[in-house]
This record gives sequence, structure tokens and C-alpha cells, in this order.
Amino acid sequence: MKEIILIKNGELALKGLNRSTFEDTLIKSLKLSLKACGECTIRKAQSTIYIEPKDDSFDFEEGLDRVSKVFGIAAFSRARVCEKNIDDILAAAPEYLADTLRRIKTFKVEAKRADKRFPLTSPEISAQVGGAILSAFPHLRVDVHNPDEIITVEIRDFAAYIRAGQLPGAGGLPVGTAGKAAILISGGIDSPVAAWTMAKRGLKLDAIHFASPPYTSPRAEQKVKTLLSKVAVYSGTIKLAIVPFTEIQEKIAAECPEEYFTLIMRRMMMRIAERIASYHKCGALITGESLGQVASQTLPAIGVTDCVTNMPVLRPLIGSDKEEIIKISRKIDTFETSCLPFEDCCTVFTPKHPKTRPTPQLCEQAEAALHIPELIEKAIAETEFTYID
Ligand code: ATP
Ligand code: MG
Repeated sequence: MKEIILIKNGELALKGLNRSTFEDTLIKSLKLSLKACGECTIRKAQSTIYIEPKDDSFDFEEGLDRVSKVFGIAAFSRARVCEKNIDDILAAAPEYLADTLRRIKTFKVEAKRADKRFPLTSPEISAQVGGAILSAFPHLRVDVHNPDEIITVEIRDFAAYIRAGQLPGAGGLPVGTAGKAAILISGGIDSPVAAWTMAKRGLKLDAIHFASPPYTSPRAEQKVKTLLSKVAVYSGTIKLAIVPFTEIQEKIAAECPEEYFTLIMRRMMMRIAERIASYHKCGALITGESLGQVASQTLPAIGVTDCVTNMPVLRPLIGSDKEEIIKISRKIDTFETSCLPFEDCCTVFTPKHPKTRPTPQLCEQAEAALHIPELIEKAIAETEFTYID
């Protein structure tokens, strides 16, 4: 028996002229994602994408799981490939769909005849397949208005396809069709979820992580890499920049008033991230901030970190509650890793009483003793890059 995966692409259908580029990007994502399952061909015809395993060595179940994580897909299904003659179709349908048919009470058959040379019309195909199913599963009834399951038989150019039901796709837009942005990634719960959320809207991801050894350990860095590898299942390969941040944090601790530590640190992160991101042709920065979650995420605090960059800063979780964020982090399998107790650079130099109503002017005064351009150049020169997939 030969089985394939059929994909209907989500919002793509709405995108008019862009459609073909979107489909090509989606096919590229699918090729990369399915590489690990074995050999298959992927082609498109009439707004459907066909994934055909080359032989039995293709891991079909794993393939289905991977397809369910590719953005830009509204729904997909598994289908049986059949010779284009009615006897084969009538024999294959009850056998292939047996598990589904045993579970349900009512069904309806929809036939689509794209190849008009096929000798039966669509209603004739539906009637015959319906009859074959009823005689094999006498407990079933046909219900054309509200069936438990719709059985689809398609007669296409090269073969006939039989399928039942659809599986939900990951939705969103194919990664890369919205451009590229850099996620500021910590080891926490929020930033991996923010990364996933924006990849879902079609952004390819770079990542930037600030590390402060020896205050932060190699295990904290490994944790960030593990988190990104989980996001990369959805987003594709992520280029990670690891920025050495120790010297900057020590300078801030030595030269600035304590109540400003976190704010100045965040302003330094934004300045450096903007430089790295624009050099690597990203159109925006992404953070995992959520309004009011901590002292550095009040409106005035966000204001003084935002104003040091010219690049748009996307904060997809700004209106989300922690519970909503945790729900997504469980779904994308980052939650447990995020909860591992390794120190983050933010937690090392936390002020006892953070500044409550900061303004850009007050922050500038507080950081006046720092040689900011020099610190930025040095950190960027020592930044290391790796690819995570
Ligand atoms: P998270 O769960 O993402 O760590 P958080 O609730 O702990 O977020 P903060 O520590 O205030 O919040 O950080 C806010 C945002 O700043 C993070 O979501 C992330 O985008 C960025 N950020 C924080 N620490 C780092 C770091 N060490 N490297 C890169 N970005 C960071
Ligand atoms: Mg954090």
C-alpha cells in the first residue's frame, strides 16, 4: 500500500500575487523538516502539496508529526494512493479506512474528478464507494448533511487518492515570508515562546544571548541552545550570537547608581542587539516582555529601553498572562528546560530597589560614567556565532 501526505495551505490562499512565492517557501520548509524521515518527493498542483515517500524506509508517522509543526499549513491529511480504476478504488476504500469507519456511525463520500477522462462522474464514484463501504460496515448510515466523517476520493492526473478527515496544521505563515528578526533569548519561559510566536507569523529567526561568565555557567548557555533547538523544530535553523556581557555588567555595577542597574543593563542589551541584528539584515528585535510582569516591564521601563534603538521591537507576549505563556511553552516543549534552575545574567546584578519612574534623561545621567561606544564595540568584536537546528 502506498500512502502520501496531502497539504492544503492555510492563509496562503488569500495572498493573491504572493501565493507562488509563499508556496515555494513552504515547500522549502517541508523539505528541510522532512529530511530526517527519509527520501520523498514534494510537489504542488492546484493549491495542494503532495508529499510522496520514495519507499517504505520513509518514517511516515514521524513525517506526519513534522508536517504538523510547519507554519503555513491550515490542515493536512494522510491519503492512500490507488490505481485509477473503480475496482481498485472500491477494494481499497473500506480496507484503508477501516479504523475510522469502525469508530463512526454516519459518513458521506465526496468524489472529485480532476481527470475528466475517468469513465465515471463524481456522483457515480460517490455512490459506488458509498455502497462498498456500507456493505463492508453494515452499522454505518449515509448522512449527507451532518456526517461524522467525510470520505474523499480524488481522481487526479496520475492516481486516485482516498482519505478521511483532516488533521489540524500549525497555522501561521511559512517561515521567511515575513522577513527576519532577532530574538533576545534568555533561559526563561517567555523568550522561547515569543520566538515561536513570531516564527508562526512568517519571520525567520536569528537569536542573541547575553552571557556573563563566570557569574553565569556554561550550563546556562547550553540551556539556551537546547531551548532554541526546540524552537528550531518549528522555525528552521537559527543563527545564535552569544555576546560576552560580564565586563559591561561589572562596569555598570561599579559606575552607576544601583537602582538603575537593570534598566541600564537592558538599554545596553538593546543597543548591542540592534547593531548585531541590523548587520545580519534583521528587520526587528523580538523580546519576551509582558506588561507589568517585573519591575523592568512597566510602561516607563519599556519606554526607556525602547528609546535607545531605532529598530522596531516586537513584544508578542506584551498582553499575555503567565498562564497563557506557560500553556504555549508546554505545547512547544520548552517549559521543562526553561524551568531548569541556572542563573541568568539579569538575576546576578539585581538592584534591591529598582527605579520606579525612570525617564530617558535620568537613565542617561545614571549611565554618564560609562564609555558606551567602546563597551559596545568590544562586546561585538568578541561575540561568537553558532547555528542551532
Ligand atoms: P524570560 O522568561 O524570557 O527570561 P523574564 O520574564 O525573565 O523573561 P526578563 O529577565 O526581564 O524577563 O527579560 C525580559 C526579556 O529580555 C526576555 O524575554 C528576553 O527577550 C530579554 N533577555 C533577558 N535576559 C536576556 C539575556 N541574558 N540574553 C538575551 N536576552 C535577554
Ligand atoms: Mg529572564
